[in-house]
Amino acid sequence: MTVISISKPVIEKDEIKAALQVLSSGVIAQASQVAKLEEQFAHLCQTKYAVATNNGTSALHTALYAIDIQPGDEVITTAFSFVATANSILMVGARPIFVDIDEKTFNIDVAKIKKNVTKKTKAIIVVNLFGQPADYREINYLAKKYHLKVIEDAAQSINAVYNGKKSGNLADISCFSLYATKNITCGEGGMVTTNNCNYFQRARRFRNHGQREGKKYDYIALGYNYRLTDFQAAVALAQLKKIDKLTKRRQDIAKKYNQIFKNIPDLIVPIIGVNRTHVFHQYTLRVTRDFKMNNDALKKYLLSKNIQSSVYYPKPLYQFKHLQFKKYHHADFSVVNKIVKEVLSIPVHPLLTNEEINYIVKTIIHL
Ligand SMILES: *Cc1c(COP(=O)(O)O)cnc(C)c1O
Repeated sequence: MTVISISKPVIEKDEIKAALQVLSSGVIAQASQVAKLEEQFAHLCQTKYAVATNNGTSALHTALYAIDIQPGDEVITTAFSFVATANSILMVGARPIFVDIDEKTFNIDVAKIKKNVTKKTKAIIVVNLFGQPADYREINYLAKKYHLKVIEDAAQSINAVYNGKKSGNLADISCFSLYATKNITCGEGGMVTTNNCNYFQRARRFRNHGQREGKKYDYIALGYNYRLTDFQAAVALAQLKKIDKLTKRRQDIAKKYNQIFKNIPDLIVPIIGVNRTHVFHQYTLRVTRDFKMNNDALKKYLLSKNIQSSVYYPKPLYQFKHLQFKKYHHADFSVVNKIVKEVLSIPVHPLLTNEEINYIVKTIIHL
């Protein structure tokens, strides 16, 4: 039996055909396909604007530039995310200030944000971890009160809904990733969405060497080459057509897991907050202290049964040396410190067969 992998891209004939068509057209760098992808992305997110980039990290860098985060500014973010969330803050010379998470949703604990606001705080990067939107009503309220901008790191939450709004439209500006393991992909890619025309124009410029729009070789400020290629955009467009189907498959698998795993003592299944949908970029169990083994041991056991699983993420971001700009007291992070020892994500990707799903269920039930 081959190993059931934790993620797998759904690349079918239409993606391959679309890529080949662009590759043989003679126009392969950023052109009409990228423009079309931006249009479709804005449509999906119900935003006015979208700007494609070459990956999710450059999308975050671009968003931080667009809202004008300056060297020395402080940006509040969650201690529990992929490192790119925090690294992007360093890319504009600002300082990440980490906040603990909510134990139920794994997203930033809004009540703990306030204590970290200083005169230097300019923005909050909120992550919709594993595909579940955070508490934007409370976060946007707080941000307004303290004159902070909000960036939505939607790398894992494409097509999720919060209070009737799509992910990508929940903050001042939002960022997506089209990396190979994400819910839709073109290998590497990213997207920035916003309703703010000024942010949109700054993002477009930043992506293309700081060049004035429509004026070749006229540069206003520092920019980068963060452009996406047209053959990748063609693949992403084919993926976008399937987004509802792919999302539903993930949600259906998660539902099946929930029904069964919720009855296993000392395992906690994903908890979804009110007024939102979860798109299950990851299906993440909590292997609590009272369970017969810890998350690492369960991971090893599952692999011995040919099931790949993974601990996202094994170390809170505040513990990495290059990200430390503040001395934190241990107790500040009591929740994330506990959660990293409990989480285990198991396969939930749309290509799992019903047979594989049943096998995973059976293996975990019989522990
Ligand atoms: C994947 C991811 C990113 C970075 O995206 P890349 O396309 O890999 O650069 C940023 N934040 C989160 C939460 C992610 O999951």
